[in-house]
Amino acid sequence: MSETQKNTVRIRLRPAAEKAVRAGHPWVFADSIKSEHRTGDIGDLAIVYDRNDRFLAAGLYDPESPISVRIVHAGKPTTIDQEFWQARLDAAFAKRAQLFESDTDGYRVINGENDGYPGLVLDRYADVLVLKVYTSTWLPRVGMLLELLEERDGRSGVVLRLARNIQSLAASQFKLRDGSVLNGVDVPERVVFQENGIRFHADVIKGQKTGFFLDQRDNRAKVGSLASGRTVLNCFSFSGGFSLHAALNGAKAVADLDISQHALDSATANFELNAANPSIAACPHETINANAFDWLKEVDGRRFDLIVIDPPSLAKRESERTNALSAYRQLTAAGIRRLERNGILVSASCSAHVRAEEFFDLVLDAARNSGRQFRELERTDHAADHPATFREAEYLKCVYLEFDGDR
Ligand code: SAH
Repeated sequence: MSETQKNTVRIRLRPAAEKAVRAGHPWVFADSIKSEHRTGDIGDLAIVYDRNDRFLAAGLYDPESPISVRIVHAGKPTTIDQEFWQARLDAAFAKRAQLFESDTDGYRVINGENDGYPGLVLDRYADVLVLKVYTSTWLPRVGMLLELLEERDGRSGVVLRLARNIQSLAASQFKLRDGSVLNGVDVPERVVFQENGIRFHADVIKGQKTGFFLDQRDNRAKVGSLASGRTVLNCFSFSGGFSLHAALNGAKAVADLDISQHALDSATANFELNAANPSIAACPHETINANAFDWLKEVDGRRFDLIVIDPPSLAKRESERTNALSAYRQLTAAGIRRLERNGILVSASCSAHVRAEEFFDLVLDAARNSGRQFRELERTDHAADHPATFREAEYLKCVYLEFDGDR
């Protein structure tokens, strides 16, 4: 299936959008389209012309999304065909080739726009590739994507995951279902893979995202490096990634706290999966099924030497930003009150609508308000397999604070 056989829509943009696309921004919103020669269909190729009727860019048209066009190429005209996509896929794989030791085989291969595949994610978990489609524009191209993946690697199973808002369209118009295995390879519901030498399950068929939160790998390793001899509370634990790293590195005891019993069960299963590792087996592991906001606020609660706070996105849209900022502030303040003397707080945010600087400012502000002495150890952002090439793609930020004095 070649893009050249596909329908194209010729569009022109309002001046601000034209400027943004020229500068490399990958999104064109519906209200920045000045004219289109016809209404585009799902998956059409949009050819963007500038005010002088010269080629400006090519993108994928999506009538279902507020982002009508996702730019895939800007500059000189080029052919967008299977070879074009193959070159991008090769580049994405090449970028990850040297990043990991053999003890890590779970990583992101394609990070959407940032790897030239807007609205698409490809994660590898050992011998399974999980293709997650966030925009309907890819639905007519799933067959082509599968061909490209099989050409590169015929052995791995390929699981298709679909964002919730495109699932019914995918089923009715394209006969594609969330969680289906595209190439007939036998894929277990929970795939075992390794991260920094620790074994984990990824629930590739039904789990959140693609089955695991790969974006926090470097922070998990860093928490591990700080955990020796400490008691650790892992808030919003999901499947226990932070606490397993802490246990491996000699934590005195670890507690996973999550509102979902299912998440805690998967954390317990991940500890069992590593029972042969003496450090992990020796570390007491506890699960706490609670709402982190309430649990952390309990007066006279237990204290810990290291507390990780890694909530889900608290601002999925701009209108939620103000509430998210106050929620982060509450969590941080409550977390600090639960820290032992010389305790370390690790506070992360994955809300795209909360900017890094304002997040760091509010965490530091809450730390100052605690009245305790503290110093900032480090700030971190995106891992190398999760590149962010434009502002809206920068969602992950994390700060490490060490408190000297008593509470
Ligand atoms: N830190 C994890 C990823 C966190 S994902 C890792 O390294 O893999 C966010 C988790 O927060 C989910 O497991 C979800 O069940 C949990 N969660 C959401 N709201 C919560 C709340 N109010 N209290 C506790 N956990 C919550």
